[in-house]
Amino acid sequence: MADYEMVIGLEVHVELDTRSKIFCACPTSFAAEPNTQCCPVCMGLPGSLPVLNRRVVELAVSAGLATNCEIARFSRLDRKHYFYPDLPKAYQISQFDLPLCAHGFVQTGEKRVGITRIHIEEDAGKLVHTPSGETLIDFNRCGVPLIEIVSEPDMRSAREAREYLSALRAILVAAGVSQCRMEEGSMRCDVNISVRFPGQELGVRTEIKNLNSFANVERAIEAEYARQSAVLRAGGTVEQETRRFDPESGQTFPMRRKENADDYRYFPDPDLPPLALSEAWIEARRAALGELPDARRERLESAYGFEAREASALAAAPTLCARFEAAWQRTPSRGALKRLVVSRLARDPEDIAPAAEALASLAEMLAAGTLSAGGAAKALEAHLESGESAQAAVKRLNLAQISGREALLPIAQAVLAENGALAASYRAGRVNALKGLMGAVMAKTHGRAEPRMAEALLRELLGQACPREPD
Ligand code: ADP
Ligand code: MG
Ligand code: ZN
Repeated sequence: MADYEMVIGLEVHVELDTRSKIFCACPTSFAAEPNTQCCPVCMGLPGSLPVLNRRVVELAVSAGLATNCEIARFSRLDRKHYFYPDLPKAYQISQFDLPLCAHGFVQTGEKRVGITRIHIEEDAGKLVHTPSGETLIDFNRCGVPLIEIVSEPDMRSAREAREYLSALRAILVAAGVSQCRMEEGSMRCDVNISVRFPGQELGVRTEIKNLNSFANVERAIEAEYARQSAVLRAGGTVEQETRRFDPESGQTFPMRRKENADDYRYFPDPDLPPLALSEAWIEARRAALGELPDARRERLESAYGFEAREASALAAAPTLCARFEAAWQRTPSRGALKRLVVSRLARDPEDIAPAAEALASLAEMLAAGTLSAGGAAKALEAHLESGESAQAAVKRLNLAQISGREALLPIAQAVLAENGALAASYRAGRVNALKGLMGAVMAKTHGRAEPRMAEALLRELLGQACPREPD
């Protein structure tokens, strides 16, 4: 039987990197004591008046420009009404028919995903469910500025959705719009998905709310695709509804039937004037936009010889990228510097801020064989955690490799004496026994022996000629 095709559109909420909230002067810092960052405005008390934060408009326009959107010269803030305990005003200030940005796109390789719109809005508070069954409300997040980025239904697989999300994150981080930390909720994703046979009309979509990691976005898409396909195969129909993804069971469950847009009773907020932006102001924002990931990736490939994949990972980590470029100027050990940065990004793609000095000296120790790749990685983590210099970290954690003939010879001799059976086996022609002997060297030195010299010494002590495995 032919397979259904999936059709995916994403709604991404991103917290803007401002110091104060969208309509008042309350701070936005993450993880403050509950209900310590609120005032009459963000609590929606009667008589309070919102004042739009200029920085919110600047950052939202940066987001629009960085995703190739048209920026509206004239837009407006609207009230979206609904009741929920985390929304003390019983309406959210958002944008409805005149969003700030529209008609953009994000390119990931060959794939282009259309951006329908980007609008600004305020976040709601947070409900905290205690183990004893109470529900507490933390209003600190009320009024934290958000943009919502709505994509066209252009994605056709979980992988394309993930690639779009990581490209979008890289762009927003590079443009200084947001830190986009999914684990802290500063980037959240709703997945809209439907299935159809290729070439058919769009099917009925469901929306899976509030996914908080890339992995869960992919899992939720696969699970919902399987569910909808099974419903249709069995002759049923897909209901338009909101669902949630349960990471434990890996399945989606219904939350509520989809509201129609007019249930929200949108109308222009009478307390806020419309937003009129001049051409000159928008062009100034365009000029202030730094280097975006695509351009940076190309530069990293051509100027430093990174592979495409490495370059896009580094381009998505702007601070690390800047520190890498500074370190490049300081050290001749450039191959080792690249390896150090590439391996860190492979372990953890998050942006980090090591001192350029530390990167340079770790690269030199790596190139000189003073550090193994693993040792350099440990020293880098220690430097990031404590701020100590690379040398201090290497010393404190005793990471320097044991290298050089003099230092390694007695160790190799001791290992051969203690592992007579392996040595005999090697001499009898089992070259694999050498792995066991190297393991013993590493165990004895807690992994710090410089492997090439250690292996050469073992071979030498076991007899010059390298025996061959019997056929
Ligand atoms: P709502 O607020 O009702 O969810 P939005 O316009 O904000 O509406 O978002 C709709 C999202 O759903 C967009 O990302 C859009 O690309 C996507 N979408 C619309 N129709 C379909 C469909 N048939 N299948 C999959 N995604 C769809
Ligand atoms: Mg939606
Ligand atoms: Zn406030």
